Amino acid sequence: MIYNLYSYMNLIKHFVNGKTTTGYSKRTGKIYNPANGEQESQVILGSKLDLDNAVKIANEAFKTWSLKTPIQRARVMFKFKDLIEKNSDELTKLIVSEHGKVYEDAKGSLTRGLEVVEFACGIPQVLKGEFTENVGTDIDSWSIRQPLGVCAGITPFNFPAMVPMWMFPMAITCGNTFILKPSEKDPSCSIKLGELLKEAGLPDGVFNIINGDKEVVDAILLNRDIKAVSFVGSTPVAKYIYENAAKNEKRVQALGGAKNHCVVMPDCDLDQAVNGLMGAAYGSAGERCMAQSVAVAVGNIGDRLVDNLKKKIEKLKIGPGFDKKSEMGPLVTKEHLEKVKGYVDLGIKEGAKLVSDGRNLKVDGYEKGFYIGGCLFDNVTQDMRIYKEEIFGPVLSVVRVKNFEEATKLVNDHEFGNGASIYTRDGDIGRTFASKINIGMIGINIPIPVPVAFHSFGGWKRSLFGDMHMHGPEGVRFYTKLKTITSRWPSDIRTNPEFIMPTMK
Ligand code: NAD
Repeated sequence: MIYNLYSYMNLIKHFVNGKTTTGYSKRTGKIYNPANGEQESQVILGSKLDLDNAVKIANEAFKTWSLKTPIQRARVMFKFKDLIEKNSDELTKLIVSEHGKVYEDAKGSLTRGLEVVEFACGIPQVLKGEFTENVGTDIDSWSIRQPLGVCAGITPFNFPAMVPMWMFPMAITCGNTFILKPSEKDPSCSIKLGELLKEAGLPDGVFNIINGDKEVVDAILLNRDIKAVSFVGSTPVAKYIYENAAKNEKRVQALGGAKNHCVVMPDCDLDQAVNGLMGAAYGSAGERCMAQSVAVAVGNIGDRLVDNLKKKIEKLKIGPGFDKKSEMGPLVTKEHLEKVKGYVDLGIKEGAKLVSDGRNLKVDGYEKGFYIGGCLFDNVTQDMRIYKEEIFGPVLSVVRVKNFEEATKLVNDHEFGNGASIYTRDGDIGRTFASKINIGMIGINIPIPVPVAFHSFGGWKRSLFGDMHMHGPEGVRFYTKLKTITSRWPSDIRTNPEFIMPTMK
């Protein structure tokens, strides 16, 4: 679509060099309010020229920003933290109106992003290097971490504030400059964050946003001045980013999709497990990379688990995100709604038992919204596509297994490895699960084990391509390169040249 500058509709622009700008491209994308199905804005979809121009500006800004002391960079983050708190209602409303999740959930996700900003406020402590006196006689050695240059972040629709905030506060306080390419489905929150960074005193050009789709992503992958790419999104795109960023000699971390299992042991507190599963499977309409989409019922607990879940699903309050009574909002777009409904149809064809069917849900007054009720499948098996593939909607599959060993094998055999949880009262089982399972983030009687900001976030297997997880200590490693210096001072250099490999004497 070609945008009309005089259009009455809200136009979401880029944010470059401290200002919003329409840039060079004339393509636009539609932004919907998922609660009522209406298009409320359009976003400019940038071009390679827009991206390359922003990189030039960020490269120039790097020359001075990277020379600021860590404490000067941290001071900007302290002010930014304060501004996010002051603007939290506006930011939350932007998330709700474009993504659709319920207000309190949106606010919670903003808080989790804010915690990364708080961690970044402590960057002077985290960036301290290592020093060894006398690695050889009168020779000292120390290691320091230095910024990379211009870094880029490409983010998904499901956490429009939190996921960008996993990236840029770390990158910036480590001394880099940053280009963000937010999801084209809900980009407004990012623009507001850019404006707040400027208000916090961040120099122009250090943080930039180029809105767009694949065209901007490909331009990021090709631009030689971008030194590192952080990506969060679906697995096929994550793999594409990983391969092409690496081919163009960039550092890359590409987080992909998931199918998170919750193992329910016969000895567990069933109420706790069911409540945990309800939030983890249906919260944010299942549009979370850490959502639990498979409940593994071990031994004889299957019937009671399914009955309890069914009763709770019938009482789920589904409606617009701004309605305080809503526990679950709509899906993000009509296309995504159709895709999720398609998976439910498929599950029936594949022979799973549909215990709760949310496909025909209508919300009074919001008939055009992208709603689906909670869906629950029983007797799902490993060969079914509804088990193997990520659905990314409020659809929970129950797989029944005989024992703990079968449950762990099931989890380990799945191609994704983001998160997994176990509900049990048996410490030995819990510990064995944590130790042996082939998954990046584990919960023991915890439904969504998302690590806090001062730990690092990331999955295993096809849920993450690259070596380093996001934020926390791994985030610092990702956004810096290590330099090790070995030195001695004149009293010792009046010796003859040495031609052998130096060893410690
Ligand atoms: P997506 O992969 O469709 O899009 C992610 C980003 O990639 C967007 O910015 C989009 O513009 C861009 N993109 C999309 N298609 C592209 C292509 N062909 N070439 C280049 N760029 C492309 O993901 P989404 O639908 O926005 O988000 C949902 C997905 O993200 C789910 O799979 C979910 O599991 C995953 N996710 C993972 C994590 C994690 O931490 N592992 C966190 C959040 C979301």
